Amino acid sequence: MKRVYLDHNATTPVEPEVLDAMLPYFSNEFGNAASIHTFGQKGRGAVETARESVAALIGARPQEIVFTSGGTESDNHAIFGIVGQSLLPASSSQSSAPHIITAAIEHEAVLNTCQALEKAGVAVTYVPVDREGRVDPDSVRRTIRPETVLITLMHANNELGTVQPLEEIGFIAKQADVYFHTDAVQSAGKIPIDVNSLGVDLLSISGHKLYAPKGIGALYIRGGTHLRQFLYGGHHQRGFRPGTENVPGIVGLGKAAELARASLAQDNERISALREDLEQGLLARVPDSKVNGGAAPRTPNTTNLLFPGLEGEALVIALDLKGLACSTGAACSSGAVEPSHVLTAIGLPPEEARASLRFSLGRHTSAEDIEFALQVIPAAVAQLRELSPTYRREAAARP
Ligand code: PLP
Repeated sequence: MKRVYLDHNATTPVEPEVLDAMLPYFSNEFGNAASIHTFGQKGRGAVETARESVAALIGARPQEIVFTSGGTESDNHAIFGIVGQSLLPASSSQSSAPHIITAAIEHEAVLNTCQALEKAGVAVTYVPVDREGRVDPDSVRRTIRPETVLITLMHANNELGTVQPLEEIGFIAKQADVYFHTDAVQSAGKIPIDVNSLGVDLLSISGHKLYAPKGIGALYIRGGTHLRQFLYGGHHQRGFRPGTENVPGIVGLGKAAELARASLAQDNERISALREDLEQGLLARVPDSKVNGGAAPRTPNTTNLLFPGLEGEALVIALDLKGLACSTGAACSSGAVEPSHVLTAIGLPPEEARASLRFSLGRHTSAEDIEFALQVIPAAVAQLRELSPTYRREAAARP
């Protein structure tokens, strides 16, 4: 059966060149990068080369890159690290609780970290987003107060692809002397990133979203940024992140960063043209469909579409049976399907949020894949709508 994968924001396949680069570090080159003998030094060399490649992808210096286990750890490290540091007696100049600014559309890796801190007495402001999922820099400016220690806002949203105006927010953070972290898990390798023009102090990356394996990531920490120790252990990575380095994973991330940097411009052009074909094709073929967040600057690979009158989960399953993989942003909690917090934050009523699907294209998505999607999606939507008495009633009532 033909299978087409349009869920690259969930994870990407490991690129063959990435796998090839990693393989020796599972076998002959197995040394511990902290060892001083030749085995160890080969691992060390590979780790440092990878650090240079990751730094080059985002315009950073190699010594500002710390390897982690992925996006979730990087986000936790950045947020707990800054807030923890501000609570140390030497740093806290004020008696009131520290304050963080974030947005309602963040990934759970940021939202739940902020919520955990809130329970511990930290104040958190969730700035609103508009219909496209964009934060207004002025609302960030207005929310800053003397106790604000951190602004954490994602670069690109995982469900909509919406890209935030980080340069403007970075400027505001700098003026106010507040640390600025961005979760760039969904933008790294997809759109150009320069930590200096964005004005960020901390930036999270995850390997498996850019054709490296799962379980490896990186945190950019601008030189001079003071973070409270997040993990305690040995002196690996200059003490920033103790734990024996995952040499094969790090090598994979380095290779993936190098490949992304080399093909970013041409990937962007090709993928955004395919996304356009998919969007326009679906809007033309599926009555009443709409793009969520389509008017904002977006990552080139992501589209989120509303197909009123059906349950997104049912459509994901129906499409999977036909060989197409995509997803909803819904979360399963206590047995019930909760509508996506991102889609409700942009103002969609729960039934519309539940009727929306995300398609995310990748480096190897082809025109044939899009043609296939354009055949199967309209048919599956029509079938499910047939079973929806409300949709049929509403459609019949229309002039
Ligand atoms: N941040 C964003 C925006 C994501 O999309 C994801 C994963 O979906 C993460 C963080 C978590 O990254 P990881 O899976 O590497 O922990």
